[in-house]
Amino acid sequence: MPTVSEIMDTMDYGPSVEDSSAVRDWLKQHERFGHFIDGSFTPAGRGFVTSDPATGETLAQISQGTAEDVAAAVKAARKAQPKWAKLTGYERASYLYAIARVIQKRERFLSVLESLDNGKPIRESRDADIPLVVRHFYHHAGWAELMADEFPDHSAIGVAGQIVPWNFPLLMLAWKIAPAIAAGNTVVLKPAEYTPLTALAFAEICQEVGLPRGVVNIVTGDGETGAALVEADVDKIAFTGSTEVGRAIRAATAGTGKRLTLELGGKSPFIVMEDADLDAAVEGVVDSIWFNQGQVCCAGSRILVAEAVAERFETLLTRRMETLRMGPPLDKSTDVGAIVHPVQKDRIVTLCKQAVAAGADLVGGAPGEACYVAPGYLREVSPANPAWSEEIFGPIATLTTFRTADEAISLANNTRYGLAAQIFSESATVATDLAAQVKSGVVWINGANMFDAAAPFGGMRESGFGREGGRVGMLDYLSGPKPDSVKEKAPKTPKAMTDGAASGKGIDRTEKLYIGGAQKRPDGGASYRAASGDLVPLGNRKDIRNAVEAAKKASKWAAMGGHGRAQVMYFIAENLSLRRDELGAKHGKEAVDAAIRRLFHYAAWADKFDGMNVQTKPGYLVNVIPQPFGIMGVICPNDAPLLSLVSLVAPAIAMGNTVVAVPAQDDPVAAFDIAQVFDTSDLPGGVVNIISGPKDDLAAVLAAHDDVAALWYCGAKGAEAVEKASTGNLKPVWSFENLDWTKQSAHGQRFLDHAVQWKTVWLPYGALPAGTGSVAY
Ligand code: NAP
Ligand code: MG
Repeated sequence: MPTVSEIMDTMDYGPSVEDSSAVRDWLKQHERFGHFIDGSFTPAGRGFVTSDPATGETLAQISQGTAEDVAAAVKAARKAQPKWAKLTGYERASYLYAIARVIQKRERFLSVLESLDNGKPIRESRDADIPLVVRHFYHHAGWAELMADEFPDHSAIGVAGQIVPWNFPLLMLAWKIAPAIAAGNTVVLKPAEYTPLTALAFAEICQEVGLPRGVVNIVTGDGETGAALVEADVDKIAFTGSTEVGRAIRAATAGTGKRLTLELGGKSPFIVMEDADLDAAVEGVVDSIWFNQGQVCCAGSRILVAEAVAERFETLLTRRMETLRMGPPLDKSTDVGAIVHPVQKDRIVTLCKQAVAAGADLVGGAPGEACYVAPGYLREVSPANPAWSEEIFGPIATLTTFRTADEAISLANNTRYGLAAQIFSESATVATDLAAQVKSGVVWINGANMFDAAAPFGGMRESGFGREGGRVGMLDYLSGPKPDSVKEKAPKTPKAMTDGAASGKGIDRTEKLYIGGAQKRPDGGASYRAASGDLVPLGNRKDIRNAVEAAKKASKWAAMGGHGRAQVMYFIAENLSLRRDELGAKHGKEAVDAAIRRLFHYAAWADKFDGMNVQTKPGYLVNVIPQPFGIMGVICPNDAPLLSLVSLVAPAIAMGNTVVAVPAQDDPVAAFDIAQVFDTSDLPGGVVNIISGPKDDLAAVLAAHDDVAALWYCGAKGAEAVEKASTGNLKPVWSFENLDWTKQSAHGQRFLDHAVQWKTVWLPYGALPAGTGSVAY
């Protein structure tokens, strides 16, 4: 026993281990778990064990879900769904509220269970994960209550298949289940193989509150079970996990009409500017990548620090690193717990070795006993080092210096991901300027890892699409009013589009494409005889590439602001109305009039499609901002040639995107006529580009092009091919049936929803509560 004066000397804490007896009793009672289907647990089947990564101790036997188990769960969910959706919002809200209350009562139990199964420190599960779970169910109880008022004309999608990873097992479950059931969907959720226990405890809570049978179903298993769920008869897949598996799911759901949201990996920048509060920035690193073993998709794993303060920052960083306590997850003074599984530990160690072999220095980061890896960071990591681009998913950041803000942004955006960014600067001007330029779905200024149910979370680029949290997140679990669809005309243009010029029967010789604001001969110099009888240019792969280059050069369009874009669009409408008689004679008066109205409509929206400021907790200004994707591909239906093009291009450009459009295959002349109107209306060259030719071939090129950030495909037939081809950069693809373009339902906010991606910017103000570091728990 040390004496008091010895303790004063070392200031060492004694062990303070959270009591796990209640959890152990619960585990003993169960031992072998079945699935939770249709309100009860199935008998345990063949399966695997889940263990405590800190000790290797087996915690329980888990059943491996088969395709039959998944089908039974989906069937139960399908059966329960109409009745669940028919309950009033208030009734659904009461269930969510009851779930929140019970979780709140069991906070201690669930925190201990989570830490045992996952290896994360009890401080993290107790102070961050479980309170956020509770917050999610309360918040979404509210959305259920308000659904009729806030989402009129919207309805549930149906049955959602939900797949979550092991790093925040119960929190990810809450992010998925709360909005889904609030909106009237029923769910089948598959937890991760390494961490199924809190999901099974959650199933018991569903029983306890009397949630109607089949509303929530939990099927445990590995990736194969997940793949079976993707294939099952569900209406939506919501996936959180790696980009690699996200790609496979995108390919597997292509053409099925299943809605899809993907929350994938990241390699997020952590920018420390010269004027940053360096102590706060160091605490940010602790919260972002060390305290939680770095097993966080949005961890600021690439530290970028201004050269002028790099030395001082590193001194503070290493000093703080040495004070972190690595130890048993259930000890209340443990900062760094265990890595979830030996496989993950090996991956971390291997990646660090590769990074060092490629020229980096590893500071700290030594592998320990069992599943432990000490916190550390890699110095001298250039973009050529594998550690720059690969997710290490452990407590090891990279550290790179920069000289100017421009260099910081170009390094920050030098990644295929776009999940989160941390920016430390004491200057609001500097911080907000960087926040605007960084390409990520979430930005934290002077803090890290702030989460709240009201704040949408999700990625850009290869970090996926869709948002979880708040109003925007709810929309991902709802369907809007049914549009007036009409069957698309089958193209009459001959399949083999050989050069038609020789036959010379052209009514209207329009043999030039529209690229970069000018008429351009197609790359092959060929034309085709469209079904309209016109001789039109035959665009190819190279023309699409040229059009994408032109669209890239027109990126200033976004910077013009909503008012500037609106003016140009009103002017297009005005000039179109000047040519109303002439173009009306050619393409139909009704179509021209409707096109004029549509341009007016989206010009009106250009400066009114607002973001929102959401309430998270006091002391945080959180703005959710609509951002253009950048370059969008727009594939028009083979119908309503003038009106469909205008109806699709106008909302895309109103939001600041630039567009490469493929017009109606049978009659692209109308599109080139509109291009002339663009030319006389101050639309900057390259904002809209038009490439005529075989619809599905050109769509496939756009889908596979990495610089095209989003794609709209109108017409049912080719959706599968474009969705498959889009897996490269995981661009969101919106495919929908041909519409009656003269109807009101063919325009409106729905199109704008698909023309933007949301950026959530967190700006804490004033002093943060002492002891919370920068994390918004
Ligand atoms: P993962 O291998 O992609 O697994 C995620 C989930 O998908 C698990 O439940 C997994 O089952 C299942 N799965 C595996 N293969 C599947 C398949 N072919 N079809 C359907 N489901 C399949 O990811 P992980 O390694 O567990 O988790 C770490 C990754 O998740 C990191 O890349 C991280 O960045 C990302 N993540 C992203 C977010 C976000 O919000 N963006 C949040 C957390 C984590 P098993 O567990 O049985 O393998
Ligand atoms: Mg485990």
